[in-house]
Amino acid sequence: MKKRSPHLSAIPSVDEILKSPDGQRWMEAYPRKRVLRATREVLEEKRNAILAGDTPDISAGAISAHVAGRIEVLSSYKLRPLINATGIVIHTNLGRAVLSEFALENIRKTAGSYSNLEYELSSGKRGKRYSHLTDILVELSGGEDAITVNNNAAAVLLCLNTFALGREVVVSRGELVEIGGSFRIPEVMKSGGALLREVGTTNKTRLEDYKNAISGNTGLLLKVHSSNYQVVGFVEEVSLGELTRLGKEYQIPVMADLGSGSMIDLSQFGITGEPTVQSALKTGADIVTFSGDKLLGGPQAGIVVGRKKLIGQLQNNPLLRALRMDKVTMAALEATLTQYLNDDAAVKDVPVLRMLTQPAEVIKRRAQRIASSLRKHISSCADITIIPDQSRAGGGSLPGTDLPTYAVSVRPWHISVNLLQERLRNGNPPVIARIREDALLIDARTVMDREVKSLGHCVISACIKEPVTEESRS
Ligand SMILES: *Cc1c(COP(=O)(O)O)cnc(C)c1O
Repeated sequence: MKKRSPHLSAIPSVDEILKSPDGQRWMEAYPRKRVLRATREVLEEKRNAILAGDTPDISAGAISAHVAGRIEVLSSYKLRPLINATGIVIHTNLGRAVLSEFALENIRKTAGSYSNLEYELSSGKRGKRYSHLTDILVELSGGEDAITVNNNAAAVLLCLNTFALGREVVVSRGELVEIGGSFRIPEVMKSGGALLREVGTTNKTRLEDYKNAISGNTGLLLKVHSSNYQVVGFVEEVSLGELTRLGKEYQIPVMADLGSGSMIDLSQFGITGEPTVQSALKTGADIVTFSGDKLLGGPQAGIVVGRKKLIGQLQNNPLLRALRMDKVTMAALEATLTQYLNDDAAVKDVPVLRMLTQPAEVIKRRAQRIASSLRKHISSCADITIIPDQSRAGGGSLPGTDLPTYAVSVRPWHISVNLLQERLRNGNPPVIARIREDALLIDARTVMDREVKSLGHCVISACIKEPVTEESRS
């Protein structure tokens, strides 16, 4: 039988709650604004529940617990760290690259002080912000010059606007890609004021197609790395080498948007299909653009390397001011790039590379540690096994490359696997994991060693927690 709804007048007032011992404590520990808001919100919800004919618990204890929980939620930052148990290393929705310790330390150092961001120490005159990363980028890539902007979309936009404003850019129909929903080559072309001249077909484009499209109004030949898909079957594309020879013949610059743009050859780790920045330049590309936070493993950034004359033109485009990189990013990027002076250091210290290249055995050991911490506590409410699986690079990198990995499979007995997934997502820290059939898979590739313990606690409490009721959820 349904209990009778309590009377509205039985709900305590905001004032009463704030004067209670709990209220006094909150007022000391948290900003007054947040305490007031949490209290008002909770009381409002109770009132609405009563008006809707429900029977909410309005005892002092229940209300106090609710308000405390709400203050906690309101007081935590909205952008929060979480545990990525998806195995997808460059997960755009989860923030792409985890920064290295060197990058973090350099951010702290440079952003916590004044810096020579636009100040030339040798002359005491105004300096250029774009100059700081030029040297290391030239050294690493073999290009003549370099410039960095906010992200790779901005880099592509800036290049199109600089080299092809009101002119045609020749692109294969097989390379008119969309990345992450909002970056589409035809649309970026429009925003940059360039005219798209598509050639070939989805699966086959030949050198003749490019050649026939060239006219007096051609500004650029563009090659876009098909980052997040593969065309299989009857496929023919023009290599960057062939395209650069054509460009030379007609004196039209050739640009390669590599998307991820690896700075080291990952084939030594069995990861193939991603051209390096160095090889694109060596092949003859005049301009190469790539992201800072994909395979490079740094902060969000767009990097352009290539011919001095062309980079100089980019520097003079007024649009650059709107796309410029800030000092926090610059500090992180310089530190990340510096790791690349030594391949071994990069693979060890840049988390993206470390996660991509770690041997399956290392991942398996981590999975075993996760599994054994779980078995100790929840062997009576879930099946825990370790299974071999495949993880993906993500972020539009290495399409079609599956990386052998190990996952901890958790099959809960008393709750559905969907509820387990939901609880983990809403835990503290949140844990993001995927479901396959009726098991939750925790891919150990992207779990960091320092997260293993906390991950264990999260899974244990999600598995054994009482079913969440409407009342306790809020
Ligand atoms: C990812 C990607 C971009 C966009 O780079 P952001 O750094 O995300 O702006 C552009 N082109 C290609 C080919 C990409 O893969």
